[in-house]
Amino acid sequence: MNYHKYYPVDVVNGLGTRCTLFVSGCVHQCKGCYNQSTQRLDSGHPFTDELADRIIQDLSDTRIKRRGLSLSGGDPLHPANVGAILALVKRVKQSCPDKDIWCWSGYRLEELDEAQQALLPYLDVLIDGRFEQALADPSLLWRGSSNQVVHRLSQRARDTVSAP
Ligand code: SF4
Repeated sequence: MNYHKYYPVDVVNGLGTRCTLFVSGCVHQCKGCYNQSTQRLDSGHPFTDELADRIIQDLSDTRIKRRGLSLSGGDPLHPANVGAILALVKRVKQSCPDKDIWCWSGYRLEELDEAQQALLPYLDVLIDGRFEQALADPSLLWRGSSNQVVHRLSQRARDTVSAP
């Protein structure tokens, strides 16, 4: 898997202060894509064990407390990314069980294949669906267009993230 950007401190992508990883690779080709440079799978830089270590360290940092990890892109659920993302979310939930994980994907929840569904038990929030320019609305929280859905997958998310 390749990634484009890693922000160790981010207050924009999800609730609270977070670590955010933008991965490479997306098949959806949405018109008006906010992040076109991430669409090619081979763009960006290789995601390494060192970066995974860094994410765990940042999530464990007690000086700047992070609420969790956000995964965006590109598409973290691109079939070529699923294996590396699954390994990462398993590690985060094992090493930092009090942190939540949010994921943005162009796939809709109901169209995920078996490999993509294997990630769901580790995600607290999934924001799904392609960006539809005709339905774009800058006032929406966490999503760009009104067709996209904020799924609160975990009990923690249902308890703490208000339904948009
Ligand atoms: S799903 Fe996201 S990254 Fe992929 S083309 Fe659509 S807007 Fe761009």
